[in-house]
Amino acid sequence: MRYLSTRGGLSPAPFLDILLSGLAPDGGLSVPQHLPTLDLATLRPLNYRQLVGAILTHFIDDIPADELQRLIDDTYTAAAFGDDDITPLKPLDDHTFLLALSNGPTLAFKDIAMQLIGQLFEYTLSRQNRTLNILGATSGDTGSAAEYAMRGKSRVRVFMLSPAGRMSAFQVAQMYSLHEANIFNLAVDTVFDRCQDLVKAVNQDAEFKAQYRIGAVNSINWARVLAQVVYYFKGYFAVTTQNDERVAFSVPSGNFGNAYAGYLATQMGLPLDLIVATNENDVLCEFFRTGQYRVRPAEGVHATSSPSMDIAKASNFERYIYHLTGNDPLHTAELWRQVEQQGGFDAHAAGLWPAVQASGLRAGSSHHAHRLDTLRQVYRDTGLVIDTHTADGLKVGRECAAPGQKLVVLETALPTKFETTVKEALGFVPERPAHLRQLEDQPQRFTALPPAVEPLKAFIAQHGG
Ligand SMILES: *Cc1c(COP(=O)(O)O)cnc(C)c1O
Repeated sequence: MRYLSTRGGLSPAPFLDILLSGLAPDGGLSVPQHLPTLDLATLRPLNYRQLVGAILTHFIDDIPADELQRLIDDTYTAAAFGDDDITPLKPLDDHTFLLALSNGPTLAFKDIAMQLIGQLFEYTLSRQNRTLNILGATSGDTGSAAEYAMRGKSRVRVFMLSPAGRMSAFQVAQMYSLHEANIFNLAVDTVFDRCQDLVKAVNQDAEFKAQYRIGAVNSINWARVLAQVVYYFKGYFAVTTQNDERVAFSVPSGNFGNAYAGYLATQMGLPLDLIVATNENDVLCEFFRTGQYRVRPAEGVHATSSPSMDIAKASNFERYIYHLTGNDPLHTAELWRQVEQQGGFDAHAAGLWPAVQASGLRAGSSHHAHRLDTLRQVYRDTGLVIDTHTADGLKVGRECAAPGQKLVVLETALPTKFETTVKEALGFVPERPAHLRQLEDQPQRFTALPPAVEPLKAFIAQHGG
């Protein structure tokens, strides 16, 4: 398999060439040259580790298959994910299920991809005898997942921008309490999208990027998307016995990485009806309902009680649109010129609306009051305490799935990460895993940076490996 840029400026490159970087040199995102069609009957009996291997070997041919499987086997263990099934199902009623993706070390679904990335990075950096400075931005969960996956790794330093004062106390403590010398938490007094723009700006300086060996683990990292494709298959097999039943999957969405992975699964033959759930930051919901992609100014981002979805523009969306254009890099580049110059585009004017509809994605949004209602209703009916993002997914999933259709809602975090809102809804805070009870009391370590590119570059130049 070779990879190209959504904007055409990358000659076909193997997996390991795109693994460590974020954006392609032309500002686009890496995409595979084609998508394989997978045989569901062959995949159905596999356990999680075997399933990862069977899917990833289609996309990674520059790591010997047995070594790749060993990395996978080392990643997806019951010890790391609390269950040998890795992503077990939790039934809510006879046709509604949560797919539990959040039992990794940082209690959010991002661990599933990030733990594998930690193994892949270490493997390839030691084989190439080089080091890497990972630069990323987080709205809360990516940062901790990346830091836990990379902590103590000798060839990697992590520079993680986070929007100061806009994450939950638990999220802050998870990141800032890490004291490994290779982890740098950079608190920026701005919103997540502005942090992400700073990362992009550093990456667009090709000379700086090369000199300081800048890499990425943000949701634009292809390997992350790829690792997330797997649990759609796992979840589908867990709720069905036949390979032709259409199952609705509802995905709490922010940067569109998770939902894009689901879209890829459909393109590889999995019969899903994908539902994109947003919160008050409803850029994607608006797009799927009207065809208008209208990114919000960073100041227009609402700070919500599902903060990991507080995003004004969805990075991975470009990959999805690229597929809808029939993998046309010129058309995609033109649309993203419009995004940069006019703040968006119209899928109707671009001739893409029929393709959007054919792709089958539907969307809805959920607000704070819905989240509280959903938390209460699930607790009353099942005794389960769910997290706020998962509540958005459940609310929108129930609206969009056909009556009686099986609905799988991706559980993207555990409620402990967002306990203030859980307390508001239920009157108590969810029970925490024992080792996390004192997390917020531990000493925190971070550096405050202004929202500007030059100070960020200077910090990396000073502390990079
Ligand atoms: C990151 C995150 C999301 C959004 O996922 P995307 O891939 O960015 O769409 C949703 N819920 C939680 C808890 C998250 O951490």
